[in-house]
Amino acid sequence: MIKETLVLLKNIRQAGYKGTIEEYQQTGGYSVWKKVLKDLTPDDVKKQVKDSGLRGRGGAGFPTGFKWGFMADVKGKPNYLVCNADEGEPGTFKDRELMIKDPHLFLEGMLISCFAVKCNTGYIYVRGEYYEAIKILKREIAQLNKAKFLGDNILGSGYSLKLVVHSGAGAYICGEETALLDSLEGKRGLPRVKPPFPAVSGFNACPTSVNNVETLANVPFIMEKGAEAFKANGTINNAGTRLISVSGLVKRPGVYEIKMGVNLKDIIYDFGGGTLPNRTLKAVIPGGSSSPVLLADEIDIGCDFDCLQKAKSMLGSAGVVVLDDTVDMPRLLHRLIEFYAHESCGQCTPCREGLNWIRILLRDLLARRLEKSWVDQIYRIAGNITGTTLCALGDAGAIPVMSFIDKFREEFLGYCK
Ligand code: SF4
Repeated sequence: MIKETLVLLKNIRQAGYKGTIEEYQQTGGYSVWKKVLKDLTPDDVKKQVKDSGLRGRGGAGFPTGFKWGFMADVKGKPNYLVCNADEGEPGTFKDRELMIKDPHLFLEGMLISCFAVKCNTGYIYVRGEYYEAIKILKREIAQLNKAKFLGDNILGSGYSLKLVVHSGAGAYICGEETALLDSLEGKRGLPRVKPPFPAVSGFNACPTSVNNVETLANVPFIMEKGAEAFKANGTINNAGTRLISVSGLVKRPGVYEIKMGVNLKDIIYDFGGGTLPNRTLKAVIPGGSSSPVLLADEIDIGCDFDCLQKAKSMLGSAGVVVLDDTVDMPRLLHRLIEFYAHESCGQCTPCREGLNWIRILLRDLLARRLEKSWVDQIYRIAGNITGTTLCALGDAGAIPVMSFIDKFREEFLGYCK
């Protein structure tokens, strides 16, 4: 029976912990922030985070220290740090857990990270549906201002910082960093052509780093315990712990914290409690709904970026969705594609037309109106979307189509005339 490795959830797992600033300080919270302000330079923080090997927890897994290192020093332009709290990937809800239940752990990480990239105004872009998180963050940022951990000349250090919580309007595409920046600027959220990357020209055309909530929440631990202690909880290239959202047809859905590399099967059975009574496991979506599906006999693998890539899937946002023998895969795929087609921003023809075309064909398939050859046609359309679009949403919709048909072709053919 595996156990959680508690770094990010250590306070949350304490009975009765409510996440107030007083409680957080009683656990040693904000001592790292004071130490950083007193003894360290932004370059010291950047180096330690780079040495730790921390990789972004939003989906792409890009090394955070490198990302910060790319920030251009543009004369006359301020630097910005924007937290991407637009957690929209179906099956993923771990950032919400942090923001609601231990907001100060994340906020301390945000403060230290803003200091590291020399930013004086940091933004937290929260998805609009997370009403509670928005309310809590605004309330706790007011507490931070009161405690003088934020504001002008913080604790006499000469460093000033303001944090702003910005509510999204519920568009999945605003989880894509450049669409998020457009939305933050008050425009319709549309992915931008890259380059330039946000590190050079981001929010208001200024150098900007966009980082995920869980990524930033790791920073206090790294700065307190050191890069080696962080690396000890993980595998080579996959340092630290990871929050896993377990959902679907399991006995105990929830957010669990594991050392990177823990076996996916153990996560599902030991933490999730396995399938519901009298059901058998059919498949698992391991990294949010856009990751390729794994069959029940493919889940005896490590849960980290590299192991899942080797298994031709991906860790993505670490949203593990468990599917049992009652799940109709063509129906599930149709539901997923309705979502992705609806959320397409419409800029790229393959994404806009292709996903909608697949949506219509899957609808017709479920109505038993298609010949068998159409299953291959659906697969081909998906293949023509991958790699041909401006942002990753096109792939996010097309990849599940290909993996579902690859692994459950007979079920799709079973719906044909
Ligand atoms: Fe918009 Fe889709 Fe193109 Fe992304 S891939 S920019 S969502 S049309």
